[in-house]
Amino acid sequence: MRVYTVQKEKQPEVIQCNCCGKRILIENGIVREGVFSADCTWGYFSKKDGELHSFDLCEDCYDKIVKTFRIPPKQIQSNEMI
Ligand SMILES: [Zn+2]
Repeated sequence: MRVYTVQKEKQPEVIQCNCCGKRILIENGIVREGVFSADCTWGYFSKKDGELHSFDLCEDCYDKIVKTFRIPPKQIQSNEMI
């Protein structure tokens, strides 16, 4: 007989900032610093139809990049922190 525990969520082993290459700190499968993750599946009317693009940014690179935006990102304070 085998008893299985509920499978845990997929835990990352390595995350690297796509901009600067810095390794994001992960301890026991838990991300221990700020990281911005983006995923986009390009649609039919784009030049990348059907391609999934994804990347991660460390918090410093995120801050540098959004400072170049003409319109800043929308920010909402989340009260549901784990
Ligand atoms: Zn970075």
